[in-house]
Amino acid sequence: MEIGIRNLSVVFPGRQRFWGPSDPAVTAVDNMTFTIPRNKTTVIFGESGCGKTTLVRVLAGIQPPSSGTVLFGGKDVQGIAPKDRELCLLSQSIAFYPHLRVWQQVALWLTTRRPWLSHKEIMKCVDAIAEKLHIESILGKFPHELSGGERQRVAIAGKVLVPAIHFGVKIIFLDEPLSALDEKLRVEIQELLKLMFAELETTIVHVTHNQFEAAYLADTIVVMNAGSVEQVGTFCDIYERPQTKFVAESVGSITMLKAHELPLVNCQDAHFVGIRPQHVHVTRSVTNNGSGIRAEVVKSEFLGEYILVTLKLENGVLLTAHTRDMCSGEYTVVIESECMHFFNAEGVRINRKP
Ligand code: ADP
Ligand code: MG
Repeated sequence: MEIGIRNLSVVFPGRQRFWGPSDPAVTAVDNMTFTIPRNKTTVIFGESGCGKTTLVRVLAGIQPPSSGTVLFGGKDVQGIAPKDRELCLLSQSIAFYPHLRVWQQVALWLTTRRPWLSHKEIMKCVDAIAEKLHIESILGKFPHELSGGERQRVAIAGKVLVPAIHFGVKIIFLDEPLSALDEKLRVEIQELLKLMFAELETTIVHVTHNQFEAAYLADTIVVMNAGSVEQVGTFCDIYERPQTKFVAESVGSITMLKAHELPLVNCQDAHFVGIRPQHVHVTRSVTNNGSGIRAEVVKSEFLGEYILVTLKLENGVLLTAHTRDMCSGEYTVVIESECMHFFNAEGVRINRKP
């Protein structure tokens, strides 16, 4: 189901405390307008505290907005209770019932919403889902006996797959389901999620602050900054054509310089210039056409897939480059000018005239 978000704001009022410091008011979601397409995976991407969870809670109906409208399939959902919104939510902090075994946690949607089902029927559903997530062997365990990766799989089974397969929910919200996992497990479960998303054909809203996860899972990424939308697009759009300085700095690495700090480059009316390290090349030879900038290597760090070289230009400005060999001493730097990103003083992209 398509989700329309129109002028949505959420303000948490400040609180005067009798004892201790008082809380200032916080605008967690600040006049957001965008559309989440139907049956695609949309990733809400942003750093911690930018309002992702608040946005998802409003869409799920748990948190009332201060102003603005949420439309599901074009219809205003104000006043519709979360359980009647045909959605499921896997929240950031997973709560398990400590006294229930894994199969009971997985079966919760079934046992609470369809109490007439027999034990045999329930176990048939649980077994089929457990097989998909490879948790067949832990169905008899209690939550405290599970590892981090197993907990995440159990949560996905019970809170996403059961509602998606047996209740036909129209929207699935996942709020940072992988953020507590180590990198290897994160990648493993992310692959599982991608397969699952492809099979389900449901509108999926996945929240993360991890750019690799966003790039891997998203059809569309919504980049958030302090309660607002900075850019909506594919990962390629966001990485190669960042519309703001903030977006350019949130994905991949980039050196952001003031335009006047970069010699030999015609920055036209730009205020900031962003340069990704893979577009900076170093050579020992002096270029005769004047396109190179003299620089001295400050640091050369072996990072496995490439070497990260920090260069100090003649005017003292630092720039980073990716190289194949360790470097030291004096070099000539050549920057691929068509790959530079230009922004005005407000940090908005300037598309350069040829
Ligand atoms: P994220 O999920 O992106 O980390 P959140 O939506 O959790 O961000 O929080 C956004 C902002 O709203 C934060 O500054 C947070 O402190 C504030 N906030 C979230 N929930 C509440 C609440 N119930 N009361 C007051 N402030 C809140
Ligand atoms: Mg959050």
